[in-house]
Amino acid sequence: MYDYDLLVVGSANADLVTVVERRPAAGETVLGGDLAVHPGGKGANQAVAAARLGARTALLARVGDDGHGRLLLDSLHAAGVDTVGVLVGGAPTGVALITVDPSGDNSIVVSPGANARLTPGDVRAAVSLFLASRVVSAQLEIPLETVVEVVRHLADGSRFVLNPSPPRALPTEVLAACDPLVVNEHEARVLLGEACVSEEPADWARLLLAKGPRSVVVTLGAEGALVCDSSGVTRVPSVRVDAVDTTGAGDAFTAALARELGSGASLAEAAAYAARVGAAAVTRRGAQESYPTAAEAEALGG
Ligand code: ADP
Repeated sequence: MYDYDLLVVGSANADLVTVVERRPAAGETVLGGDLAVHPGGKGANQAVAAARLGARTALLARVGDDGHGRLLLDSLHAAGVDTVGVLVGGAPTGVALITVDPSGDNSIVVSPGANARLTPGDVRAAVSLFLASRVVSAQLEIPLETVVEVVRHLADGSRFVLNPSPPRALPTEVLAACDPLVVNEHEARVLLGEACVSEEPADWARLLLAKGPRSVVVTLGAEGALVCDSSGVTRVPSVRVDAVDTTGAGDAFTAALARELGSGASLAEAAAYAARVGAAAVTRRGAQESYPTAAEAEALGG
């Protein structure tokens, strides 16, 4: 018996967003619109998305002892995430400074802050959370050595889902634990590097599988996703929606996928459900604020 359907290990950031007419040149100051502050970070996003879907979810993360940290904890609590594993202090809360120009393009500076201080020792101290969790998910906005420690603490019979974002080379030990490795197009290209000679996503999925994970999912935005394991590649269609804002769609997709895998769904079934959740998330603005409940995802059909 597991106490948690999903344990997310990852980042929590405050996203500070302002709209500008144009980006400042070196030494220049430009005026922006009113500042908007949103709870974000891939770890917190995944945890909120899973909890909104009804999964019993815990988050292992680190925030600062400051206002941004309290904003994140409030958002996690409102969604029903268990924050017993959210450590407070040691550095300021991670922040993403985001300027948006009139064409909608973003420029982003990330100050990792407390996320960079989530250590392997923090993972070892949270061993009871790992023993209580059916599925564990992680991303790469925390130190890689912390993710290595995560895969060493998975309970027997539990499942590990990794979204390697931002992408970087992964140790064999981490790759071998992934079931699945979940990548978007950009992450697939970076992980494959020079091996990415094909423009065909099914080839990327096969090449990534050959690197050692037990399964691979490639998300393709409005085109849906591909799932790949030893039995081959299966295409999962997307749901047609009017996209308003794709921020955090991949985090919603991965959280929904992890939740469904924990309920015993096959990889293709879980990806089909995750595609509905990802599509629902792009119909509303923001990241955490855009995530659907299970009923809203169900209503989307597909
Ligand atoms: P990321 O947000 O990491 O870049 P994607 O853009 O591939 O990832 O989106 C993740 C998933 O969200 C997709 O596989 C799809 O299911 C869903 N999704 C994203 N954009 C759209 C869209 N415009 N219409 C429908 N579904 C979408």
